[in-house]
Amino acid sequence: SWRGLHASVTKASENTPAADLEHRESHTFQAETSKLLNIVASSLYSEREVFVRELISNASDALEKLRYIQATGQDVAFPETPLEITIEADQERNTLIISDTGIGMNHDELVSNLGTIARSGSKEFMESLADGAQTGAADAREKIIGQFGVGFYSGFMVAEKMTVYTQSHAATEKAWLWESEGLGSYTVAPASQVVRGTRIELKLRDDAREFADAGRIKDIIKKYSNFVGFPVKVNNEVI
Ligand code: ADP
Ligand code: MG
Repeated sequence: SWRGLHASVTKASENTPAADLEHRESHTFQAETSKLLNIVASSLYSEREVFVRELISNASDALEKLRYIQATGQDVAFPETPLEITIEADQERNTLIISDTGIGMNHDELVSNLGTIARSGSKEFMESLADGAQTGAADAREKIIGQFGVGFYSGFMVAEKMTVYTQSHAATEKAWLWESEGLGSYTVAPASQVVRGTRIELKLRDDAREFADAGRIKDIIKKYSNFVGFPVKVNNEVI
């Protein structure tokens, strides 16, 4: 059973995920994704704090999907794990970690969801660039980032590296690491000691240190994500 399978990681909240880097695979982003990432990373967008809203909204979606699966009586990995969002802001390490105990992703979902632009917002974003904004002023591009939102990739406005650990709700699936510096490529490797759901670690850029401050993160959440239907903890405090 999944219990036997994951017996060594049932207390995973005390453990840090690990990856088997010897079996790391390299992938290149789909061309359109690379193009989007270039724009996101070089953006001087003044409201880059919206990346918090995007990552929390993904976490909330993942939790809602998990709740639905549970409600329809299907088995899930780690059924006792509470449905929640946990945020750890660490000023010393200059990192921000956003974790959820939602549906998680298996290997192929990880590659297709985080390696290609599936989301309609990002698609529209790229289309509007093709319509002319690409050659226009930088602020035209940034207006578009704000208008459409760029989902997961918005993390690269503030992070020099994003590391994702994920464990699918399907108990027979293994856990995976996904890592990228937001340039042309990303890597995927088998992982261990991962709780059900998804953990996204942002290694913040020097110019984004403000987002390692728990107080700042709480304010952003109050501003944009007041209606999340799951508990949100920031540095162990329920907000
Ligand atoms: P959107 O949320 O509009 O689909 P995103 O770029 O925000 O676009 O996310 C892309 C996809 O990556 C999501 O649709 C989802 O399948 C997957 N994903 C992102 N974050 C998570 C997460 N925390 N848990 C599970 N899947 C996720
Ligand atoms: Mg999203």
